[in-house]
Amino acid sequence: MVWTNANLRDMIRQRLGDELFVVVSNREPYIHRFEGEEIVCEVPPSGLTIALDPVMRACGGLWVAHGSGEADHQVVDGSAHVQVPPESPAYTLRRVWLTKEEEQRYYYGFANQALWPLCHIAYTRPSFNLDEWETYQAVNRKFADAVLEEIGDRRAFVFIQDYHFATLSRLLKRVNIRTAQFWHIPWPNPEAFRICPWSEEILDGLLGNDLLGFHLQNHCQNFMDTVDRTIEAKMDYERFEITRGGCTTMVRPFPISVDYDAIVERAASPPIAEEAKRLARRHGLRKMLVGLGVDRLDYTKGIPERLRAVDRFLERHPEFQEKFVFVQVGVPSRVHIEAYQRINDEIDQLVESINWKYQRDNWKPILFLKAHASPITLYAWYQLANFCAVSSLHDGMNLVAKEFVASRAREDGVLILSHFTGAARELVDAELVNPYAVDEMAEAFHRAAVMPLEEQQRKMQKLRAQVHEQNIYRWAGKVLSTLFKFEFQEA
Ligand code: UDP
Repeated sequence: MVWTNANLRDMIRQRLGDELFVVVSNREPYIHRFEGEEIVCEVPPSGLTIALDPVMRACGGLWVAHGSGEADHQVVDGSAHVQVPPESPAYTLRRVWLTKEEEQRYYYGFANQALWPLCHIAYTRPSFNLDEWETYQAVNRKFADAVLEEIGDRRAFVFIQDYHFATLSRLLKRVNIRTAQFWHIPWPNPEAFRICPWSEEILDGLLGNDLLGFHLQNHCQNFMDTVDRTIEAKMDYERFEITRGGCTTMVRPFPISVDYDAIVERAASPPIAEEAKRLARRHGLRKMLVGLGVDRLDYTKGIPERLRAVDRFLERHPEFQEKFVFVQVGVPSRVHIEAYQRINDEIDQLVESINWKYQRDNWKPILFLKAHASPITLYAWYQLANFCAVSSLHDGMNLVAKEFVASRAREDGVLILSHFTGAARELVDAELVNPYAVDEMAEAFHRAAVMPLEEQQRKMQKLRAQVHEQNIYRWAGKVLSTLFKFEFQEA
């Protein structure tokens, strides 16, 4: 069965009854900003919001998130509630306010300078700072207080998102509450994880969940091994369950995905075709072979490695000079963190030196667009590209790879994909590469450049069938139907 938005809604309606459904995430599904004197409401581009928004609309649930928009305070009531979506209110967003210092230490500090590099093996060293860890726990408590206040003594399912809330579920342990948490980033092996000074507290925190989800079986295995080696717990490797302090946590893989049907519809829409024409004209790409990279500017994404492969490709295959452009869409991210400033500088310098090496007349090999691209522009790039290169050094899933595939309705084009992404486990018909091996990646660029159309189509059809079937609604449906199996005991 192909899961759709409608199946998912039906499943929720049938199963949920009068239990409350609560989502907790750092990022809010709707953000209020000022535009001049006006307040506008924006939906941040996130697969999670796309998947869970229809669920929330169907069950009229509650979403608890950090109120980070500059106009967020203006639109809430006295309980920090705002009804969303603004055009037809269907559920409640409860905003949690954080001070600048809390945001600095919890989000930019412990979450993104300790947990993010700890869980991604990209050879950027995590930094562990006691103040940041304490603030991280305090912010988790703040969220727990907000969730408990909202739930009262009702029966509730709480679905917690990501590495910002490692210690939250333990704080929600009550007879009337069931919790699932999805860890959207990889889980490393025990040797890598053990350097964290607070590994025991983090594992204990996560084992407050009834269900803990990762993208891959391999991440589940690493988590089981880490618990086994670090804290006292009863391990059941047959069922992938862990029992600690009388509470059992089921550990399961749920690979996240994209809204395939919506992408197909969007990719075929006239504004995208218009925008693709405009971009081709504007950047002189009409007769060019176009390679594409789309990433947040993050050290896990392997962007310098990819640019070096562009250099090697042009060195080895000079016939593509003046006939090929590599377009890199790079979204500035977490710019207050030094490691991100360093990767930005490194990328700027590489683009500059590679372009200087090859540029002639009006042609440069790399077009670096350092800004957030709107959905229309992004999908126009997906249409314009002959191949898309995803070269992450380590990535939980990588949705760009799936979006590119879903958007190729003509079934041409080539996906070059790092072995070290979660997506590589499913998208086996991509050109799989090791991003650390520059020559290997340069040769994959060449294969993509000369691949006959029939071969492109054969592979693209298989890739698209995979993303169609394993779409975002299946992901949400599988996680939630597993969570809903945890029965509440009758009083
Ligand atoms: N994205 C976007 N505009 C951009 C670049 C990226 O909306 O200019 C979106 C992209 O469509 C994708 C997401 O950002 O949905 C990136 O997700 P991915 O899993 O690839 O990486 P992450 O940033 O979550 O590590």
